[in-house]
Amino acid sequence: MSWFQAAFDRFYGLRIWQQACFVTLFAVLGADALTLVFYAIFFSDRLLLDLVLTAFITVVIAYPISFVFLRKTATVARLAAELDMAAATDFLTGLRNRRDFMRIAGETIDATDASAGVVLFIDVDHFKRINDRFGHAEGDRVLVLIAEAIRQSVRTDDICARIGGEEFAVFMPGADLPLARMVSERIAITCRLVGCGASVEDISTTVSIGIAVHRPLQSLDAVVKEADSLLYKAKQGGRDRVVHHPPQEIVA
Ligand code: GH3
Ligand code: MG
Ligand code: MG
Repeated sequence: MSWFQAAFDRFYGLRIWQQACFVTLFAVLGADALTLVFYAIFFSDRLLLDLVLTAFITVVIAYPISFVFLRKTATVARLAAELDMAAATDFLTGLRNRRDFMRIAGETIDATDASAGVVLFIDVDHFKRINDRFGHAEGDRVLVLIAEAIRQSVRTDDICARIGGEEFAVFMPGADLPLARMVSERIAITCRLVGCGASVEDISTTVSIGIAVHRPLQSLDAVVKEADSLLYKAKQGGRDRVVHHPPQEIVA
C-alpha cells in the first residue's frame, strides 16, 4: 500500500483549499457515477426512488470520506497531545521539565500584582559520589525516588520539576514563608529516607534547599535567581539544610 501512502503524503502537502477542492471533486464524481449507474439500472424518475438513491449515494460517498479524514484528524490530535506532554515532561522522573516549570510559574506571576507564592530550589548533596560508587543506573534510580519523595511532600497544587541533572524545583502558588519552610523540611526528611530504602547500603541522600518568597511585581527571573543563590548559600553553609531570607526582608 505504499502508493496509497505516497498519494496521501502528496495530498497533505497541498494547501487546505486545494485539499478541500480535491475532496469535493471526488465526492461529486462519486455521486454522479453512482447516480448514473442506478438510473441506468432502473430507468425510473420516481420521487421515492430518487430520495432513496440520494440517501444511499450520500452514505456511500460521505461515510468513507469522513471516516478516513476523521481518523486522520484524531491521530494527529492524539500525537499533538502526546508531543505536548513529552515536551513538558522530564523523561527520567516524570516530573515537569524546566521549560514547563518556568512557563507555569511565569503565568502565575504575570497574573497577579501580589506575591504569587514561593519558589524552592532543591539540589541533592554530593550526588556525584552516588554515581561514582554505585554506578549511573543506581544514580538514575535514586533520582526517580527523590522525585517521588518531593512529589509526596508537597501540596497537590504545587508544581514540581526536575530542572537539571540532580536539581529540582517546586513552585508553591499562594504559599508564604512558614508554609514553604514546613514543606521544605518535609522534603528534606523524605529525601533522606530514600537513602535508607535504596538497594545499596550507605547511600546518603540529603538535599540542600533555597527558599525564595516571591515579592509583589518581582519578575520570574529575579525570584528564580534568588532561589538559586539561596541554594548556593545552603551548599556553602555545609549542605543538608534549608536557607531563606530573614522574614523581615521578605515582607514588602
Ligand atoms: P553538590 O553537593 O555540590 O551538589 O555535589 P554534587 O556531586 O551533587 O554536584 P555535582 O554538580 O558535582 O555533580 C552532579 C552529578 O550529577 C554529576 C552528574 O554526573 C550527575 N548527574 C547529572 N544528571 C544525571 C542523571 O540524569 N543521572 C545520573 N545518574 N547522574 C546524573
Ligand atoms: Mg548536587
Ligand atoms: Mg547540582
